[in-house]
Amino acid sequence: MSTLNYIGNLLGIKAEYIKNMRETRSEYLLYVESPVRPHRCPNCHSQTTRIKGYTNRKIQHTTANEKSILLLYRQRRYICTCGRTFNEKTEFSTHYLRTTPRLREVICQQLSEITSFKAVANHCHVSINQVLRIFREIKYSRPSNLPTVLSIDEFKGNAAGQKYQVILTDPESHKILDILPKRDTTELAKYFAQFPRYIRNNVKYITMDMSLQFRAVMKTWFPHAEIVADRFHLIRLVTFALERVRKSEQNSLCNVSRTFKTNKRILIKHFEALTDKEFNKLMDMFHYSPRLHRAYSLKQAFSRVLKFKDNANLQWALDQWLSLVASSDLPEFQSLLKTFNFWRNEIINALTLPYSNGFTEGYNNKIKALKRCSFGLQNFERFRNRILFINTEKGHATTTLHVGYRTKSVCG
Ligand SMILES: [Zn+2]
Repeated sequence: MSTLNYIGNLLGIKAEYIKNMRETRSEYLLYVESPVRPHRCPNCHSQTTRIKGYTNRKIQHTTANEKSILLLYRQRRYICTCGRTFNEKTEFSTHYLRTTPRLREVICQQLSEITSFKAVANHCHVSINQVLRIFREIKYSRPSNLPTVLSIDEFKGNAAGQKYQVILTDPESHKILDILPKRDTTELAKYFAQFPRYIRNNVKYITMDMSLQFRAVMKTWFPHAEIVADRFHLIRLVTFALERVRKSEQNSLCNVSRTFKTNKRILIKHFEALTDKEFNKLMDMFHYSPRLHRAYSLKQAFSRVLKFKDNANLQWALDQWLSLVASSDLPEFQSLLKTFNFWRNEIINALTLPYSNGFTEGYNNKIKALKRCSFGLQNFERFRNRILFINTEKGHATTTLHVGYRTKSVCG
């Protein structure tokens, strides 16, 4: 195999196209030209090999050794007996003449990572506008279907002049279904109204954190779905109440406030996992503050409630726990009574069903990371497409190779 053959294979260019190669300080220059082949005239459809002339084009390929690879493509123009002239058809002479398909694949592959458009442009030695132009071709339409389990959450996206955006996911298949620009009730209603009733009726469970607004909207549009509170948020409600007690004790017991401040973490750690030293610190805190001791016991009792998996026993355990809270004389815990009463069904669902907002919350962190490295993403449509692109393409390296210029729908 000749050197040009090797280079051709390496770069994904047919060796017969490569006429020469030259290296400069910042670039590899490949002189390419396709063999003369009969072409069909777009006007009269007869075949011709008559050459009208050539145009030299500079096309950006991938990079190697931190250098750009540029194709100096000698584009041939044919002339037909009918007088019509036209360009030859090769893999280079696409509509997007300035970059090769291979470079666009590399750019798309890079865009499926959590990285900024600018970083992708730098990595591929192209301008940021070229990257944006390629990405503009990737669009995701609203899903045509909805899954059995639907998860809804909000995140701080600061896009489209709105602080919060809404994320809809399928927590079972780990797919992001859509990103909505606004979280207000009217916008959500407008969005869900686009799905026919029979599709909305397919949704059996909806997981969410305890947002009254989301619950009201989802109950209206998904009357057949069970709402499942997020387990993590539920546990956090109890942890926060304990934390409020700790803070108040830290402030009121001035002479030992340091003990309460520095051992904050011990209160959250699993009791069984405490070291001897931590256990002693915990006992010290309880010695100074019987109130904190009572609060901690409530938290421990709640962990035992979480262990019940069948509905009847769980209901009983939860009621026992709520009466403990009511008689605890801890004002920091009293708001829980109202919340637990108000969200009772959703909480029971959270503790008996295997669905949670875990995947969605995890993705919100990825979005946060993307925002951080991109210094914000002001353009909402681009922001939305990028999140959906990362979710669809990540872990699907082979499909990335085929990402050309297409409109995609996430579902169906
Ligand atoms: Zn012709």
